Amino acid sequence: MHNHDPAGVRVNGTRLWSRLMAMGQIGATVNGGCNRQALTDGDFEGRELFSRWAKAAGCTVRVDAIGNLFARRPGRRDGLPVVMTGSHLDTQPTGGKFDGVYGVLAGLEVIESLNEHAIATPHPIEVGVWCNEEGCRFPMAMMGSAVWAGRLPVERAYALTDRGGSSVRQELERLGVDLQAPLSRQPVKAALEVHIEQGPVLEQQSKSIGIVTGVQHMRRYEVTVLGQEAHAGPTPMDMRRDPIRVLAEALPALYAAAAKRGPQARLTVGCIETLPGSPNTVPGRLRFTVDVRHPDGAQYAALCGEVEQVVESALKGQALGGEIRRVWEAPGVVFDPQCVTAVRRAAAALHCDAIEMVSGAGHDSCNLAAVVPTGMIFVPCAGGLSHNEAESALPRDLEAGANVLLQAMLSLADQEPGEL
Ligand SMILES: [Zn+2]
Repeated sequence: MHNHDPAGVRVNGTRLWSRLMAMGQIGATVNGGCNRQALTDGDFEGRELFSRWAKAAGCTVRVDAIGNLFARRPGRRDGLPVVMTGSHLDTQPTGGKFDGVYGVLAGLEVIESLNEHAIATPHPIEVGVWCNEEGCRFPMAMMGSAVWAGRLPVERAYALTDRGGSSVRQELERLGVDLQAPLSRQPVKAALEVHIEQGPVLEQQSKSIGIVTGVQHMRRYEVTVLGQEAHAGPTPMDMRRDPIRVLAEALPALYAAAAKRGPQARLTVGCIETLPGSPNTVPGRLRFTVDVRHPDGAQYAALCGEVEQVVESALKGQALGGEIRRVWEAPGVVFDPQCVTAVRRAAAALHCDAIEMVSGAGHDSCNLAAVVPTGMIFVPCAGGLSHNEAESALPRDLEAGANVLLQAMLSLADQEPGEL
């Protein structure tokens, strides 16, 4: 082996695809998807397979006390902070073969490719497998990365239980994770995660790469309206206390409020419930949710303000009791400019058809971004489908994304040609 020009190094797309398919055999479902929920035997079988591949590629593998797994390729100056990548291997109960898995195996592909071209980077490189990203079995999405980032106390994570009453602590112990292992956060120079988009935009615009600049702000409201149950026949319209009138008044104003904030605004009324829910009774009570998202902080704040004001004025206008309550919020994330630039430059150097975009979903990178410079790369997935057994992606897009990851990581790991 000899040293090649690092700018010419490419991943092996065939190996990446065959490993994705091999991982997909573990916990395979009859409909072609995967069920490897966090901290099940299947999840750990997948991690074992990854560990074997990583060790064969010369990596050391360690697992921290919350079950995050790190495969490390040493740096030429091994005391330098690591350049990190990775994602998750756990899936939804009816998940796909690509969500998370792609980011982990693309990271391994970066290491394999550097090995094959005998490229030593000054900074060490690590591929992280974050524990319980999906949060479907244990109800805390992005659990492992949250503990690592210091945003979730480890004891709170240990205490989470599944529907059968098993706790995260019990399952980690059962699977042989050493709870005394260090939980300290290694110094990280930069972290990149490559992931399928989980939405339709790249495919629709025929782009192969999304340069992810951040994650949008998200908030969920719950609105309750109190009316009075009454017979649908004998009660004249003007003598009812009908909570649906509030919905009828609010909805057009809510959609108008979203439309005012441009194409990136998202407003979803996902649940509408009436009590008692009878066709011939005026409801005594109405509950509905409003999910609001926007990547721009000022627009988001303005939209949220208008949503609250619209609901309050509809309550007042109909002279009915009730309230609008914030029940959940995830503040937006702006990714590190240097990481975004590294991705942008790599995509340009590789002549990829790329667009800049924000993520509509949460990722481990949201937690990482709170403590280390972070960025993300998206690739298209068929029909924008994810969290679905039919989840699919094209080998050439997956290969392109892994090459962008490789070149961006090389630039961040400070490859200096001729130094070998
Ligand atoms: Zn994911």
